[in-house]
Amino acid sequence: MSEQESTRTTQTPPEKLKTRTLFHRKYSRGKDGRTATPYDEYWSFAHAVRDLVIDRFVATQQHYLDRDVKRLYYFSMEYLVGRLLKSNLLALDMLGPGREALGQLGLNPEAMFERDTEAGLGNGGLGRLAACYMDSLATLEYPAYGYGLRYEHGIFRQEFQEGWQRERPDDWLSTGYPWEMVRPEYVQPVCVYGRLEDVRDPHGGTFQVWTDWQMFEGVPYDIPVIGYKVNTVNMLRLWSARAAEGFQLDVFNQGDYVRAVEEKNWAENVTKVLYPSDNTQAGRELRLIQEYFLVTCSIRDLVRRYLKNHHDWEDFPEKNAIQMNDTHPALAVAELMNVLCYEHDVPWDKAWDLTVRTLGFTNHTLLPEALEEWSEDLLRRVLPRHMEIIYRINHQFLQRVQLSRPGNDALLQKVSLIEEGERKKVRMAHLAVVGSHAVNGVSELHSRLVRERVMPEFADLKPDRFINITNGITHRRWLVQCNPELAELITSRIGDEWIYDLEQLKRLEPEIEDPDFRTRFLEIKHRNKARLAEYIHETTGVDVPPDSLFDVQIKRLHMYKRQLLNAMHIITLYRRLKHNPGMEITPRTFIFGAKAAPAYLLAKRVIKLINTLGDVINKDPEVDGRLKVVFLPDYNVSLAEKIIPAADLSEQISMAGKEASGTGNMKLALNGALTIGTWDGANIEIAEHVGEENIFIFGRREEEFEDLRRDGYNPWQYYDRNPELKGVLDSLKDNEYEPEDPDVFRELFDELTAHGDPFFYLADYRDYIETQQRVAECYRDRERWCRATLLNVARMGWFSSDRAVRQYAEKVWNLEPVEVRDVGRIST
Ligand SMILES: *Cc1c(COP(=O)(O)O)cnc(C)c1O
Repeated sequence: MSEQESTRTTQTPPEKLKTRTLFHRKYSRGKDGRTATPYDEYWSFAHAVRDLVIDRFVATQQHYLDRDVKRLYYFSMEYLVGRLLKSNLLALDMLGPGREALGQLGLNPEAMFERDTEAGLGNGGLGRLAACYMDSLATLEYPAYGYGLRYEHGIFRQEFQEGWQRERPDDWLSTGYPWEMVRPEYVQPVCVYGRLEDVRDPHGGTFQVWTDWQMFEGVPYDIPVIGYKVNTVNMLRLWSARAAEGFQLDVFNQGDYVRAVEEKNWAENVTKVLYPSDNTQAGRELRLIQEYFLVTCSIRDLVRRYLKNHHDWEDFPEKNAIQMNDTHPALAVAELMNVLCYEHDVPWDKAWDLTVRTLGFTNHTLLPEALEEWSEDLLRRVLPRHMEIIYRINHQFLQRVQLSRPGNDALLQKVSLIEEGERKKVRMAHLAVVGSHAVNGVSELHSRLVRERVMPEFADLKPDRFINITNGITHRRWLVQCNPELAELITSRIGDEWIYDLEQLKRLEPEIEDPDFRTRFLEIKHRNKARLAEYIHETTGVDVPPDSLFDVQIKRLHMYKRQLLNAMHIITLYRRLKHNPGMEITPRTFIFGAKAAPAYLLAKRVIKLINTLGDVINKDPEVDGRLKVVFLPDYNVSLAEKIIPAADLSEQISMAGKEASGTGNMKLALNGALTIGTWDGANIEIAEHVGEENIFIFGRREEEFEDLRRDGYNPWQYYDRNPELKGVLDSLKDNEYEPEDPDVFRELFDELTAHGDPFFYLADYRDYIETQQRVAECYRDRERWCRATLLNVARMGWFSSDRAVRQYAEKVWNLEPVEVRDVGRIST
């Protein structure tokens, strides 16, 4: 602890921030107090904050170079960063002084934070995980770099039109982004397409050269990642694609100017847009090029950095660790081989040893539609050299398998990197596993299923390679920043060491016996709910009672996540109230946030259903405010920060075995919501930590679904035998809620019945409804609810991304923290 104390940083006075803001208003924006727009003020203040980081940023990078430290490179196609102004101020311990400086300038801090740009370069959990890990890596003083893509359009903005989702482009860069710094001096060349040509070497043999490729460029943009109250400032380096300098000069000279500009556009398309699908494979040529673009720019960049201090390859794995966030960057296996063998003449076997010792792979899903496979045709056309490399890797791998398990052709077919068939396919997960020294799943259950169900043959061949590292969240954003009153209450009881070491929250447990502590907590929760109610009113016009149970489901919309099961509960309660208007019921406000992939029509219909239910229920006088349903548009990181501190109940109701981990479950429990959840992903570990009496677990377990399926699951049986369920489903079939449009929800009805109910909604329905009844009863016992809630808060410490990152550092990366000192000695 005292060691950490020594590197903790000190505050800058508000006056300095104020002076820097005025400086930037004048010299960066060319404005004064009269002409400055709110955007000018924001830009100037953000730059003033950025200025505070620069010395540490420079010192950190210099320190890493001087000491030649081992570095981690996190490769991810997605970073769901959210806003940075407030979190950067927090990391600098400048939130108070920042507010004061803004006050002195006559500016409203909250309005300023709302103006900050949301960087939405991801779809959901996977991208948000990468952002949480970047925060923990910097705070724990690990030498680490995030590598990703600077999409011009991040995840689409969601609007509702008559209850239907409409997608609008996200234009986050249109007014400039204050947190990035472009580095044209580190541009990387990228080649795609072309062919391999046999060439004779002087000794009479032949070798292959890759010719006729098309070249373009990657330009890096760096975003500083500030460790919390430490000197370490790491970076997130995002690549932007552009035409190579002097592109298509010949075409220009021929006078076909317009065609030349069209060619230029082609390159710029590569990082134009984030593919908006969560947990499904895009399968498009441009997506493959995006994935390769990330991998090749990043590998060339880190190799360039390594060669500043090294003249041979011996130490490469001792100085570099690369983590692949899912299979999206799995081409790193082939590209590292390409760079080592074909560009630096490292012999194949040596290069392979270096590659495997450098790479680690995190699997994020078991859903078959998400497992990446690229057709061999396409891969060969885009990356002919890499296709050859993959074949050679496969050949050697299968030879080794044959040696250790002779005569097992079925095994060879199963583990091959190539799926044979009419159209051959490359299995990216197999490539990633063969090319990595460690493969991890993201929760205990998920890691076991990876071993037993997805790749049992690999787990048998390489048992030590498969490990678990359960996901985590940064409690700095997901508690200190988003729920400041609760953070302060905690600090008033146990001091602030928990912000560095979340497991210290355990020390809250004895405080729960203090009625004053519980009262303070309930008051804070109530104020958070009142604030959210106000936001709901402003954005949707719906009034919700802050005293009602806030029942929250926020996550991507997916059939496996079962928002529709939640909707079936709403319908159940509504029908009960309509049949028996005097019935006693715990008032509830159902709050949803979710984007559906634009092509996922079934998911979009679920959004329409929930909006329709809201329209009907919210204005039904018979319900009398006892039920409210709101779907907040455009769920993103900033909206999550508003909803989570106000939640009472956290819906984590995926079909068991389908949610790899979940991290939303952790954020909500940490902020004092109780979970209603299935025995899935990290819900299981949350139950183990908070105690099964402090969580509402329901539904069938993963292995029970296996049995159900084997015995022939028939959803009609549930439909026929449960009249209440039948009533709910029939109301969907005929759309009782909008009689003028009777067929809108027919497909949802069919999905749960005729189409076999693939995610077992009907099998779990009864238990879900009964468990919700227990939730409602428990909520009425204020004291019992409050104790359970606080026990959740006190016992969630293990779910910090600090813990997760330490486990990666120890088990996968072999990475040590490095204290950055002597910041003052860097001259300006
Ligand atoms: C945490 C988070 C997620 C992941 O939520 P899950 O419930 O784990 O799927 C998705 N989107 C945003 C904006 C998040 O903050």
